[in-house]
Amino acid sequence: MQPIPTEFDTPTYRDVLAQLDAAAEWLSLDRNIWGRLRLPQRALCVTMPIRMDNGDVCVYQGFRVQHDSSLGPTKGGVRYHLGVDLGEVAALAMNMTWKCALVGLPYGGAKGGIRCNPKEMSRGELQRLTRRYTAEILPLIGPDHDIPAPDVGTNEQVMAWMMDTYSQQRGYAVPGVVTGKPICIGGSLGREEATGRGVVYITIEVLKHLGIEAKGTTAVVQGIGNVGSVAARFLCSAGIKVTGISDSSCGVYNSHGLDITDVISYKRSRYTLEGYPGAEMITNEALLELECTILVPSALSGQITEDNAKRLRCRMIVEGANNPTTRGADEILRERGIFVVPDILANSGGVIVSYFEWVQDLQKYFWKEKEINERLHEVITTAFNKVLEFSTSENIDMRKASMANAIKRLADAHLVRGLYP
Ligand code: NAD
Repeated sequence: MQPIPTEFDTPTYRDVLAQLDAAAEWLSLDRNIWGRLRLPQRALCVTMPIRMDNGDVCVYQGFRVQHDSSLGPTKGGVRYHLGVDLGEVAALAMNMTWKCALVGLPYGGAKGGIRCNPKEMSRGELQRLTRRYTAEILPLIGPDHDIPAPDVGTNEQVMAWMMDTYSQQRGYAVPGVVTGKPICIGGSLGREEATGRGVVYITIEVLKHLGIEAKGTTAVVQGIGNVGSVAARFLCSAGIKVTGISDSSCGVYNSHGLDITDVISYKRSRYTLEGYPGAEMITNEALLELECTILVPSALSGQITEDNAKRLRCRMIVEGANNPTTRGADEILRERGIFVVPDILANSGGVIVSYFEWVQDLQKYFWKEKEINERLHEVITTAFNKVLEFSTSENIDMRKASMANAIKRLADAHLVRGLYP
């Protein structure tokens, strides 16, 4: 295989590529298709001069990467974070391709991002940055081309500004250009909670498979953002005791189980978990190593490493975050018999309901929340059980089984469409 071009060569890209290579080798994948899938189809780098509130002009860097469009338009979030670079965005775009293929959506993968710290920017600065970024990537996006969504550091307000900027250029409202937008402009019921909800639907399936009673079992959740807070809430509703949860500043722990609604409202009102009463303060490192049945990493990538994987005391990991486990850690977890549901399956609830949102926008006909949740349950548990069956019959882990299923679907599409020109 060709070496990774320097533009993309980052640790996250190498990790994602290693997963592709392992699955492709196992599948004895056609080498031409394999080589194609190792690189994104399109990558756009943009720079954006933005007037700050103090009158200065600051130039930001942004990216949009489309990995593969053989199954349909590309789809993927937009991340606002200081760590954003082309390699990371390309890796996340590739992950989106596998995720969409795995759960049977008619999409390829994409991702976007701006290197910035949204926490330090005013609403006006964020709006100007978002609108300029949208204008710069305009030739690449559209309901039939590439459909952005929220990711770390972005939210439904950012999506509303993107939708408005795109629509202003077209001259009419185009709700289907983004998903994860507010309900009043064509967003979907259930979208905000979909990723966390999907994580819990999968957790329940794993517990069934392992023969563990949900009621009274314990869970630890890293991250209390969109994914982590919703997952923690629904785990509690399923009778599971959430004993630990964290944000970027610290973790809170109570062996009797936390009152999650109270923890979330404390975090919302103070913007930090520090000082939360009725629980022990612990570090994020210690949180990951707490004894529990279910560990749900829902924060950043690279949290479970070769160093801490041997000290984890959980029975299963459901990856709410993207790439939370490094390649080396994965080997250790496999040897230790910890059941891992990989990100592309575990956190696919978000893109599944994004797909429902897009379909509703295109049909201009909106569904009831109950219908949306039922359809999400059906799509995600069907995908999970298909992967589980494949993993058992082929005696491979869930990550390789998920990747093999996804790559097989893409390879079939590439082979039948053929090479252009
Ligand atoms: P978010 O910004 O809402 O929340 C992130 C959370 O992680 C926050 O609570 C933050 O305090 C915490 N955090 C940040 N740095 C941390 C650290 N070093 N240690 C511990 N906690 C830390 O983001 P989100 O939307 O919940 O996304 C979380 C992860 O899930 C990301 O990897 C994202 O790519 C992935 N994901 C999100 C969605 C979605 O629909 N939101 C869908 C699929 C995957």
